[in-house]
Amino acid sequence: MRLSKYYVKTLKETPKEAEVISHKLLLRSGMIKRLASGVYTYLPLGLKALKKVEAIVREEMDRAGAQEIFMPVLQPAELWKESGRWDTMGAEMMRIQDRHSREFALGPTHEEVVTDIIRNDISSYKALPLNLYQIQTKFRDERRPRFGLMRGREFLMTDGYSFHANRESLDAEFENMREAYTKVFERCGLKFRVVEADSGAIGGSGSQEFHVLAESGEDEIIYCKSCDYAANVETATSEIFSLEKAEAKELNLVDTPNVAKIKDVVEYLNVPVEQTVKAMMYKDMVTDNMYMVLIRGDFEVNEIKLKNIINTIDVALLTDSELEELNLIKGFIGPVGADTEKLTIIADESIVGIVNHTAGGNKLDTHFMNVNYGRDYEAKIVADVRTVLVGEKCSRCGGELSSARGIESGHIFKLGDKYSRSLGATFLDVNGKSQVMEMGCYGIGVSRTMAALIEQNNDEFGIIWPSSIAPFIVEVIPANMKAQGQVELAEEVYNQFKDEKIDVMLDDRDERIGFKFKDGDLIGYPFKVVCGKKAEEGIVELKIRRTGETLEVSKNDVVSTVKELMKKY
Ligand code: ATP
Ligand code: MG
Repeated sequence: MRLSKYYVKTLKETPKEAEVISHKLLLRSGMIKRLASGVYTYLPLGLKALKKVEAIVREEMDRAGAQEIFMPVLQPAELWKESGRWDTMGAEMMRIQDRHSREFALGPTHEEVVTDIIRNDISSYKALPLNLYQIQTKFRDERRPRFGLMRGREFLMTDGYSFHANRESLDAEFENMREAYTKVFERCGLKFRVVEADSGAIGGSGSQEFHVLAESGEDEIIYCKSCDYAANVETATSEIFSLEKAEAKELNLVDTPNVAKIKDVVEYLNVPVEQTVKAMMYKDMVTDNMYMVLIRGDFEVNEIKLKNIINTIDVALLTDSELEELNLIKGFIGPVGADTEKLTIIADESIVGIVNHTAGGNKLDTHFMNVNYGRDYEAKIVADVRTVLVGEKCSRCGGELSSARGIESGHIFKLGDKYSRSLGATFLDVNGKSQVMEMGCYGIGVSRTMAALIEQNNDEFGIIWPSSIAPFIVEVIPANMKAQGQVELAEEVYNQFKDEKIDVMLDDRDERIGFKFKDGDLIGYPFKVVCGKKAEEGIVELKIRRTGETLEVSKNDVVSTVKELMKKY
């Protein structure tokens, strides 16, 4: 490709809307253009990079035995009503009506559509297992579209769905997909980590996320410094801290005027924070049931764990007026004497063993001291409902837990019979008995992965693409457009790369060399070939973008040298 003819417009200034580096660089290098919030056009350079990520995904999915299909974006509401998700998807689902006022969704994901295909076509165990995937535009009306391609409202996803006659078959395919995904991320040259993730009500280790490690990541990953335990903070667990044995003292209600916050309780009553318990009042937004969640004063309630414990899709803290209706006063709520007819007590497993803790007195300006679980109150449910903190101990090996930021770029999930049951995807087993299929689903955010790659590969001058994804691998530049020998050599070298089918760009614009270099560094070609003063001798300068290293190479060796370097960079 000749840059003089190529459609690319780089920007000097960073557009104000861009907060993270990938967004800034994608805009500045002329790879994408914003149309509306979370909606982008891919310009030629950006599309080329996107297609390369896509090609790697396709190759690895095909190699793993999955078969590519292409499902519609437009999906009838009836199907989503069958699975129950027409209501539960809420505002994230883009909905439209056709001319007959029939309702449709713009697919945010395709479990319903793919299950509908399979339930009609497959009736025998002989046709299972089966893994179908597609690379498709998805629509999600995100609450906060941001960070450019990282959280769009229209984005490219690979989504795969597998169907099985039994759990063992699903487990095997899950492993197969994990390996395939690992290869995809490795080939993209990403530093990533596979972590345990929330698996909703299904539980178990059937949900794993592929996180690209980057400061700008929206997710927090908890990992063990000593073993390979790693989990999204949404689901991470820790060992329950061991407590000193002590004698239970007499329950004592004390005045605590205006002492509502844990910090103040600790100070006013002169107790360690490890011996305080706070009560958080939650409501199940589906059933309206009320819950009192008890947790150590220095911990926070993990709402995802809470949702899974009570098996709902949404919870919220009670409002002041809702608290008033229950005669509860914020800051002074506690389990002793709580009205368990109206609310269910859930205790975090870590508080059960605390001897003589404080808790709200259920009366304005009072707290209980020396509260003991079992003697003074009991919880209907005791479970892990806390958010793990850095420095806690690993529940596997006792090592120290630490944290890192990650960009969730892939997700593999055992769905079990969630959709096959509600949509009736059944088959006849060996004995001719009707059974519900087991399902798995697998997704990679193709566009998000491209952005994540830039988050990890950049410097003050611009993007540093790995050869596997770079829109163009080599840029050839005549140092002086007026020097005929340099221009001719550049043409020659350019054609050599073309002949070898290596994506090459010739910067044949009538511009100063410094200007060309700036653009080249911004766009991030892994290799730059400059035809300059030694052109007459057939010698070019080869510069490696990632290291800044420059080599002098004969025009006859330049292609083979680049080919060799491509293995590394
Ligand atoms: P998140 O928690 O970031 O919203 P998700 O759990 O909703 O992600 P999945 O439903 O598992 O994501 O979708 C599969 C993959 O699609 C994700 O791993 C991610 O790479 C990508 N993805 C999801 N939402 C977006 C988005 N709004 N923009 C770009 N990519 C996305
Ligand atoms: Mg999401």
